[in-house]
Amino acid sequence: MFSLPTLLRLYSTTDGEARSRVSEAKLSISELEDRVDRLSLLSMALWTLVREQLNLTDEQLAQRVQDIDLTDGKLDGKISKASSKCEKCGRMLSTRHVKCIYCGRVKQGITPV
Ligand SMILES: [Zn+2]
Repeated sequence: MFSLPTLLRLYSTTDGEARSRVSEAKLSISELEDRVDRLSLLSMALWTLVREQLNLTDEQLAQRVQDIDLTDGKLDGKISKASSKCEKCGRMLSTRHVKCIYCGRVKQGITPV
């Protein structure tokens, strides 16, 4: 087996690696929080600009968010990467678009503004 000094070195290395990974994870979380804050700011700026320019309402935005959220069949506040087929032409639908890019059919559950 391992000698006591070897075991102690292994434990300390493992402990050091664990601390290092925790530090890296905290840094990653902090960077992600900063990115989310910047994206939130950008989204708010874009929405207020679009709302003013196109005379849209917050209710229309909320409806569109709900419609897009429901494109994967679940109202969970997330966009699923799962894809589906167009009911009209049978081609694969992108989760990023509200309608089929090939035939133009609006996805089920989407209400165009
Ligand atoms: Zn289609």
